[in-house]
This record gives sequence, structure tokens and C-alpha cells, in this order.
Amino acid sequence: MKNKDVPNEALLLGADRSEMKDLIDFYLNMSTNEDKEDLYSMARRVRDSNDGPRVFLRGLIEFSSFCRNDCFYCGLSVRNRKAVRYRMTEQEIVQVIRNGYAMGFRSFVLQSGEDPYYLAGRLSELVFSIKSLFSDIALTLSVGVLNSEQYLQLYQAGADRFLLRHETADEEHFSKLHDANQHFSIRRKSLETMKRIGYQVGAGLMVGSPYQSVDTLTEDFLFLRELSPHMIGLGPFRPHINTRFAKFPYGSVDHTLVLTALCRIMLPNVMLPATTALASCDIQHRADAFRAGANVVMPCLTPQKYRDAYAIYDGKLSSSTEAAENVRFLINQIHDLGLSAEMSRGDHFDFRERKSD
Ligand code: SF4
Repeated sequence: MKNKDVPNEALLLGADRSEMKDLIDFYLNMSTNEDKEDLYSMARRVRDSNDGPRVFLRGLIEFSSFCRNDCFYCGLSVRNRKAVRYRMTEQEIVQVIRNGYAMGFRSFVLQSGEDPYYLAGRLSELVFSIKSLFSDIALTLSVGVLNSEQYLQLYQAGADRFLLRHETADEEHFSKLHDANQHFSIRRKSLETMKRIGYQVGAGLMVGSPYQSVDTLTEDFLFLRELSPHMIGLGPFRPHINTRFAKFPYGSVDHTLVLTALCRIMLPNVMLPATTALASCDIQHRADAFRAGANVVMPCLTPQKYRDAYAIYDGKLSSSTEAAENVRFLINQIHDLGLSAEMSRGDHFDFRERKSD
């Protein structure tokens, strides 16, 4: 079967549930390589004409592997007694930012499990000191689900962005992936609250997660369209040996690329990372993601001694080379694709008026 037309923004914005489902089903299950190449080419055109042929680099610091939650897919789940737990000190985190700043980074992502130690006020103090020391950087947090007061406090301390993957917009599917304390409705409310506060927000999901279907993906696309987040993270599901999903199959790289391209076309200015999960399947898939419309990459600046312990899934890409060397490799990979590598704050288009890029 050959699709009639490559979808454009208007088609994706106007599609009802059934049309969205048909489109997703077609690209996941019926499209030819030629159809996919046409889709990727459209996604590249949309990216390049809206935000230029460029890729934004954000330095990723995984600062704590402690987590109070039980997400059934994650190696850092509180139920995984074999997980190696570490927590970087405030001084260590600031030093990593200092080193990244010297390398040219002006955008950093602080990521952790839901670690009560940091969430009890220390994180906002840390954010405040980092922004006092480095006033021209953008700081993104990816630290889990908090309450409205905490989101506000962190924003007032200087956090610019917040990543919170919704994982699935289908409540029943969500309950098959998470413990009973977690709900999609809470994540939705969190993302909406953060948007209202003024954050640039990121949602996202694992492609090929257990029990995912074309129906649940359709709900995801309808949710993303309505929320219109500033970032969307899409990575293939990768099982972790010490989780209850250890024996589930890997998510498809092809499906991840197709959904990346559809997100790019539907929300032309959205920041779309070539995720580590994708690069962990094969380093070349990072380039494939850029060919499918991705425009962000988050090289890991976590100190070597902690890197392997942040094992959310098996086989996570973890280079033994120094951060600076990894970044040079990455920049060359980006240039080889005819794209420019940006180390500026890299704000979403809607925020450029307020903060210079
Ligand atoms: S996905 Fe995040 S919140 Fe869930 S167990 Fe892993 S680190 Fe914790």
C-alpha cells in the first residue's frame, strides 16, 4: 500500500481520532521505505524552514540515581535492590557545569530519579546558586513529578525548563507501566501547571513500551497536539534485566523515527531530541533521528565514575571517553549531515523574544 500524500501540519492539526489512528497505523505497519523517506524528507524541510538546519546541544548531568517510584520499565525503580545508588553533591554538580560552560555549553539538563533528598528544598537552592554563578545558561530539570508549589519554587529559583515524559496518554496503559501511586492524569496536570507557570515543558514516551498499541499512540498524538509542549522526547523501549519487563522485546527504531517525523510535522517548532535510547541501539541512529527531523542532542556530562550506575535500561550508551572528546565526535557527526551545532541556550521559538538565543 502506498500512502496518498505525505501529511503536512494542517492535516495533522485537523485530523480527528480516526484519521490520526489511520495515519499512525499506516506509517507503523503498512508504509514502504519510500513512504518513510518521503516523510523524513518532509520533516527535515519543516525543521529547516522553521528553525534552520541546526542541532542544539544540551549538557546532561545525571545527578542522582535514587528514586522513590516503581516504574516497571526502569532500572532505577525503588524495587530494584541491585541498582547502584549515588547522589552527586552540590559542589560536584556545579563543577560539572563549570567544565561544560568552559566547553561552550549554555544549556544544561539536571536529571535524576525522584530523589526525596534533593526534592526537599535542596534542589531549588542548587538551582538558585547555579543561576547566580552562570546567569546566561538555560537550566532544564528532569526530576519527576512534584506538586504545584515545588514547580513554582524551582521556577522562581531560576529553572527555565522541565522535562516530564507522560509515557502514555491512555490511563489504562499507564497503569500497566507504573505503580498504583502514579497516574497519567497527574502527569497531564503537572505539564499543564508548569506551562502556566512559564516553563518550557517537555513531554514524551517510549516507543514500543509493553502493551502499547496504535490506539494508545493515537491518544498520545491527540494529547501532544492539545498540550503543544516545547519539547518531545521519543526513544525506543529498552528492557532492563532487573525489572518485570526484562523479557519484553525492544521497541522499534523504525517506529521511533517515523513518530519523530510526525511530531516534527505536527508541531514545527518543537524541540525534538535524538535520544540516548535511540543512540544506544546504534550510534548511527542518532544521525537517522536528525534525518527524521530531530534538532536536539544531550551529550552526557555526568562524571565517569557515576555514568554506568545511571542504568535506566540495559546497554545504555556510556562512552569511556572524556566528555570533551564525546562532544567533538558529536559535533563532527552533526556537521557531516550538513547541520550546524548550536551550544547556545537554545530556547524554543516562542521564548526567543524574551531571552536572546
Ligand atoms: S522512570 Fe524515573 S520516576 Fe520512574 S523509576 Fe525510573 S527514575 Fe524513577
